[in-house]
Amino acid sequence: MQELETQIISSCQDAEGHCIVLEETIFYPTGGGQPHDLGSINGVPLIDVFEQDGVIFHVLPQPLEGKAFCVLDWNRRLDHMQQHSGQHLLSAVFEDEYGYRTESFHLGEEYCSIDIGTPSVSSQEKSAVETRANQVIFANLPLLTYTLSPKQHTSVPLRKIPDLEGDLRIVEIKGFDYSPCSGTHVKSTGQIGLVKIIRWEKYKGMTRVYFLCGDRALRDYGRKHEICTNLVGLLAVPETELHSRIALEIERRHELAGQVEALKAELIGYRAQEIVEQGNSPFFIEDSTASIEEAQQLARSILNLANGTVVIKIDQRLVLAHNQGKDLHLGQLIKEQAQPLGGRGGGSPTGAQVFFPDGAGLADFWSLLQTLLKSD
Ligand SMILES: [Zn+2]
Repeated sequence: MQELETQIISSCQDAEGHCIVLEETIFYPTGGGQPHDLGSINGVPLIDVFEQDGVIFHVLPQPLEGKAFCVLDWNRRLDHMQQHSGQHLLSAVFEDEYGYRTESFHLGEEYCSIDIGTPSVSSQEKSAVETRANQVIFANLPLLTYTLSPKQHTSVPLRKIPDLEGDLRIVEIKGFDYSPCSGTHVKSTGQIGLVKIIRWEKYKGMTRVYFLCGDRALRDYGRKHEICTNLVGLLAVPETELHSRIALEIERRHELAGQVEALKAELIGYRAQEIVEQGNSPFFIEDSTASIEEAQQLARSILNLANGTVVIKIDQRLVLAHNQGKDLHLGQLIKEQAQPLGGRGGGSPTGAQVFFPDGAGLADFWSLLQTLLKSD
């Protein structure tokens, strides 16, 4: 039923809103791993539906009384039914094929998962389970629900008899699976549409298997198809060759990165040569495009060709180096002269770095260096 006209028999207020009890209801309350239904009562949207001590409470943002016209959010319900029935099916196949029992079930907004009692699942097992589960969907077996009294519990091959005393509600995938369950289910397996295992991971000694059913699987297929189509267009290869082509492109990129590094090192050597030929120590160089490593490499290359001091400015950072014996200690120079001007950094006697968050401090230190180093 997607709509129902009934009576409000009581109401109360809690922190979440106004809790209404109906004479009878079409709204499923959170329980058994399945989230609650949504919809409206007299046009007022439901916030929550929960069960307490056998009473179902409908939470609304405002109070209501008298007659209640209930409308179920059918898309949400159908989605929950597809996922939940799909879970029974998948759990049944895992147990039938490999003896892996389902320990818990999660039905989330984005995906569903079951935790099965095995430390690992192979790709072959995953594929075999998926194939068999979808065959049962295509066979369109009816789902039956009925109640068994405690005496009848052993009359059907239940996978697990819960600790509950009293009557048990059974959801049967006809002749294939018998599970005690309070959830909502499709009428026959065909309505599940499709089941797809999307990934699995180790979880507390078990394996957590993530899957999608019905419309969720269709939307996932749509997204993935679009990604594939875009990549086929971008790389101009057939879909079957996408993986090998992308692997090849990544390998090629690594090769090129290595070549670029080698060329950069060569270029730095030429630059150092040019700088040494055109000037004398101290060498003051400004290069806003260099990385710190490149600046350090350039300083080393210059000092391989000449004696003296090198100062390289990259935006608000200075890289300093020298090869002039023990009189000049760059780390100390930074500490004593740059830090009072707001510079942050330090270094060894022959190599140092300093960063100025403030441009004025940098300008002051830059001109101080020109005086200090010239007098060497
Ligand atoms: Zn169930």
